[in-house]
Amino acid sequence: MTSIFSRIIAREIPAEIVYQDDLVTAFKDIHPQAPYHVLIVPNKEIPTVDDVTADDELMLGRMFSAARSIARDLGIGDKGYRLIVNCKDDGGQEVYHLHMHLVGGYALGRMLPKRD
Ligand code: 5GP
Repeated sequence: MTSIFSRIIAREIPAEIVYQDDLVTAFKDIHPQAPYHVLIVPNKEIPTVDDVTADDELMLGRMFSAARSIARDLGIGDKGYRLIVNCKDDGGQEVYHLHMHLVGGYALGRMLPKRD
């Protein structure tokens, strides 16, 4: 089945694409959870982190290079930002097409809420 992100990459449904190359595409999240919220997605449909293989290592590195470049373009490279990858149900993944969230625009604080 074609994921919603594959359809965005193929330009079949609209999204604000901010970056695209031969391996990855990045576009603004439809429900931003921070002033800047971009999704960086492999062009190849890989469902989750649990499905990556050694053959994907170039693409995985590109996701980080793209994140750095996009963050610089957004003007948040110096102050910083957070990269998040959710995996499957316990990780809170909703769209089963691997993606990295780039969020920033203010001091995000601690990574996870404290648990007792
Ligand atoms: P997940 O919970 O899977 O890590 O995150 C999925 C993200 O995809 C969510 O932040 C959600 O807002 C975003 N999203 C879901 N559908 C669409 C869409 O059709 N377009 C865009 N731009 N973002 C989407």
